[in-house]
Order: sequence, then C-alpha cells, then structure tokens
Amino acid sequence: MNRIASLKDLAVKGKRVLVRVDYNVPQDGGAVADDTRIRASLPTLSHLLQDGARVILISHLGRPKGAPNLKYTLAPVAGHLSRLIGRPVAFAADCVGPIAEKAVKELKEGDLLLLENLRFHPEEEKNDPGFAKALAGLADLFVQDAFGAVHRAHASTAGVPKLLPKAAGFLLEKELQFLGGLRDAPAKPFVALLGGAKVSDKIDVLDKLADKVDSLVIGGAMAYTFLKSLGAATGKSLLEPDKVDTASALLGKAKAKGVQVLLPVDHLAVKSIKDTLSAHFTADQNIPDNEAGVDVGPKTLERMAPSLRAAKTIFWNGPMGIFEVDRYAQGTRQVAKLCSDAALQGATVVVGGGDSVAALQSTGLAKNISHISTGGGASLEFLEGKELPGVAALAV
Ligand code: AMP
Repeated sequence: MNRIASLKDLAVKGKRVLVRVDYNVPQDGGAVADDTRIRASLPTLSHLLQDGARVILISHLGRPKGAPNLKYTLAPVAGHLSRLIGRPVAFAADCVGPIAEKAVKELKEGDLLLLENLRFHPEEEKNDPGFAKALAGLADLFVQDAFGAVHRAHASTAGVPKLLPKAAGFLLEKELQFLGGLRDAPAKPFVALLGGAKVSDKIDVLDKLADKVDSLVIGGAMAYTFLKSLGAATGKSLLEPDKVDTASALLGKAKAKGVQVLLPVDHLAVKSIKDTLSAHFTADQNIPDNEAGVDVGPKTLERMAPSLRAAKTIFWNGPMGIFEVDRYAQGTRQVAKLCSDAALQGATVVVGGGDSVAALQSTGLAKNISHISTGGGASLEFLEGKELPGVAALAV
C-alpha cells in the first residue's frame, strides 16, 4: 500500500484541522459512562493544540438513522472532553451548513470545536460526495483518528480524505502498528482467544488466524456451534445450526495446519439465564437437554492456562460467557487475568472488542495490556486482511 502521512508531517499552525474521532461512547442518563475512546484521542488533540491549530472534531454516536435525535447528541461529550483536556470545547448543533460554518469562523489558534453527530445526516453513511464536500469545506487539513470507524466507507472516513491534505492521527497510527505486528510478524507462540455470541461474526477472522496462530482458544456461545460439530450435546445453549458445517471445516483446516484448538471441556450451565441459582458446572463437554451453557468451567480454564502462559503474542476478542451477569463472569475474568499475566511476563497482548475491554477494566487489569484496541469490528476486519476504506483513503 502507498504511504500514509503522519500527523507529525503536517504543518498545522493557524490551520483549520478537521479531525475524525471516534466518540461513539456509552452514555448513561446524558453522562459519558466510559471515556476510553475520548482519552485515546488526547495525544492527537494535545499535539494539534500545542502547535496552534484550530481544531474541528467530527464523530458519530449510536444509530440515529439519518435524522437529528437528541438521544444521540454529542453535546455531553464536549463537556467531558473539556474537563479532560482542561480547556473550553465549543459545540455546534450541526456538523455542516451555516451553524457549523459560523462556529468554525470563530475559532482562534489553539481552540477546539466539536460538531454535532455526523449520523444526523443520512448522507454520512451513504458516503455522499456533496456531504463530504461540505465537511471538507470547513477545513484546510484532515486528520483521521477514528480507528473504530475506518472499516466503514462513510463520508467522514472515505470521502473527506480525498478532498483535503491528510494524515493519520496518533491513535490510528498506534492501532495500525500493533495490529500490523500481529498480522505480519507475530512473535511465536501466537494464541488467538475468541469468544462472544456468534460464529458468523468471527468465522472469517478465525479462518485467517488459523494460518498464523499456534493455538486457537474458543469460548463463549460461539464454542457451542463448534462442539455441536463434534457431536457434543449442547442443550438449549445459543447455537447457529446453519454454521455447524462451517465450524467443522475450520476445525479440519486447523488440524491440517497443526494448529492446536482448545474448546471448552466443561461449562457453567443453567436452567434459564435468569435462574442464576440453578448454575452448576457440568462434568464434561456435554450440556443437559433442558439447560444452557453460560460460561466456561474450571477444567476449561485449567486447560487454557498453559497455552496462554507460554504465549509470546495473544489476541483476545469476545467474552467467554454471559459476563454481563456477575454469576456468569468468572471465565471471562479469569481469561482477563491470564492475558494480564502474560503481558506482565513480556508477551504482546492485544485486546479488541467492547466486552473484553470492559472485563479488563472491571478487574483493574487493563493497564497491564500491551494494546487495547478502540475498534472491535475494525480490528477483526484488519486481521482478516481486508482493506479498511478509511485507511486506504489516507494513502498519498
Ligand atoms: P460478541 O459481540 O459477538 O463479542 O458477543 C458478545 C456477547 O456474547 C455478550 O453480550 C455475551 O453475553 C454473549 N455471550 C457470550 N457467551 C454466551 C453464552 N454462552 N450464551 C449466550 N450469550 C453469550
């Protein structure tokens, strides 16, 4: 691929710099509930402000479906950012048109402005050229720092960079550096740890990873589709019956390549998800007919541990069970601990996906991890070897 300019290459003093950030943050009653993504944008913003840029921030938030909806306003994010960065952050109630233009005109060197949710306009997700032009018209330069959005070909990711001098921000650079290392030259042994709900979401990345890893560790509901393909009883567990053959093919490929596949050998099973009191560990891989698996069991964790301890590289995406329910979170928490221990022993540990990151944060272990990706979907697509439209558009 062609070269991507770095933010350090741009002369930004006095310039209006449009920065695409990913402020798609969870909110709780109008307050920011998790500001990881806002914090992750600070190195880029501090650099721009120190060098005297006029900074215009754009982002999406949630799925407002192309119409203004105050439930998805970015206004609280402006206040939160202002507190984090210790200076005022202006807010404009539209991202294009007269309101945005007026707010941009008022910017002085070292000022910050956040524009309202890009997705209040349907043209954003359609990568509409007129909308991209209107956004680009607000600025002299463009910086892409929204790693969590670059796998989408939207106006603010694929359209705007074609119209302005552009560069990758520091967060995007860091993401590409860590994930690029995993994709192109991982230190061995390399262990991929995948969990979560669906095989269908992760089968492509599993397929690609099977070419590179020494071990594939599979947990979460995803594991039941694999176990089914091996003839195990899965009871009422979440399952994708139409993916059983795909799972079987993947196990065949892994075997042919000499990749160790670790599936759960015991489970925490319940009569119904709400009935936490019915939770018990199964004796083996099989789940009784009228029960569902909600977490991995202790034997499974014991089996996973040596591979994770020996790993020099780990990629983890997706919880081992329904970790939102405290009683079913043990497996995910233990895995978070094993990943943290491996990182402390010198392994490169990269974690992506909101749930795995939340598990690391709730256990206070996030600080030990080599790199926590701000883009779950984008990191999977990158490792699948797909071209990310928002990254491709930065090539000069
Ligand atoms: P994903 O977005 O694919 O990473 O899936 C995350 C979701 O998978 C979480 O909301 C978990 O509650 C869910 N999940 C993980 N394990 C199970 C399970 N055994 N049964 C049902 N849902 C699960």
